[in-house]
Amino acid sequence: MLNSKYIYPKKTLKKSDYPDTLFISKFYLSPYIACSHACSYCDGRSEKYHIEGNFDNDIKIRKNIAEVLKKELTKEKENGVIMIMSGVSDPYQHCEYKEKLMPKILNVIKELNYSCSITTKSSMINRDFELLRDINNKNKVNILMSLTFMNDSDRKIIEPLSSCVEQRLQTLKRFKDDGFFVGVLAMPFIPFINDDDENIFKLLKTLKDMGVDYVIPGSLTLRPGINKNYFLEIIKNNYTHLLGKYKDLYSNNKPSGMGKSFYFNNFYERFYNISNSLNVSTIAPHYVYKNRFHKYDEIYIILSHLKYILKQKNYDTYTINKAFKNYTFWLSKEKHFMKKNRSLSGNDLDNKLLFQMKSDILKDLFISNKLYSIIKKTILNDHNLDYSIF
Ligand code: SF4
Repeated sequence: MLNSKYIYPKKTLKKSDYPDTLFISKFYLSPYIACSHACSYCDGRSEKYHIEGNFDNDIKIRKNIAEVLKKELTKEKENGVIMIMSGVSDPYQHCEYKEKLMPKILNVIKELNYSCSITTKSSMINRDFELLRDINNKNKVNILMSLTFMNDSDRKIIEPLSSCVEQRLQTLKRFKDDGFFVGVLAMPFIPFINDDDENIFKLLKTLKDMGVDYVIPGSLTLRPGINKNYFLEIIKNNYTHLLGKYKDLYSNNKPSGMGKSFYFNNFYERFYNISNSLNVSTIAPHYVYKNRFHKYDEIYIILSHLKYILKQKNYDTYTINKAFKNYTFWLSKEKHFMKKNRSLSGNDLDNKLLFQMKSDILKDLFISNKLYSIIKKTILNDHNLDYSIF
């Protein structure tokens, strides 16, 4: 029984100094707090987030979110992708059907010429297809669907009130076929239930055949307290034979919820072996975020992704780490200067960056001539960077 409550915050938009390189965003917002999808593993239940009441039923609704967002974006000096998500709610949970906050938010994003990314476990996102298509045609939209199950009987137990597997796959296909960027948050895989090679392969093969742009993996974390106790109760009632294995795997009670490292190392090794064999990208390719951020943030994402790729391939990362550190230091100084000078905007910083790149003033930051020439070509010649060359 939903017990919703309206709230009227003065601020809605969270902005990070540097772009989020995993989710590919600069800003975050979420129309709701808590979530009626009732996933048994949801981290949002953790005491850490101080969410009052029953997490699955007592939903707080940011009723004025679109009006506040419009004011905030109108004053904003920087561009970038707005991510509509939260670790503790889903924008297309059940009350959205009646509240219709998402179309209001999307209309503001469309009117003010921003680009967005939406994460959900619900096929209700199809309701806003036309509006999302308008934004996508102008400024691009990423649809990020969360999915790890290929088997709906386990999904019904673990993620009881979210959309079924088939609806999520159909939603992904519809958006992909219409030219959206489509990613999958393949997280969290549930140990001993859907983390076997067969399920991972089936999921990745299905997504690859559909043309999904990238798949980000993650395994289960259980923070000590409500998060862990709630999940173990579901296991006890539905997979009694696995209870002992879970208790052992998460017996270290780490505040982060990470279980024993041998399991996680093995899981990621198997996942990357399968994703590499199928040529599925586990980070957003460059074409997904190209020209959707200021150039200075685009370079930040590229360098961060190159660090990840080289590390994953066991290459020497000294040069890329040093170049990333140098560039971040330069960028932090420039951003600080921009913040202090109210008349300056992200466009001014972009102009300065482009000028300095054209005249090779920034060359030394990148340590290696080869790395610098790749970045320079990508940024100045509007080149698509193919990560597979590394
Ligand atoms: S959809 Fe996301 S926020 Fe909602 S219960 Fe599931 S994991 Fe939590």
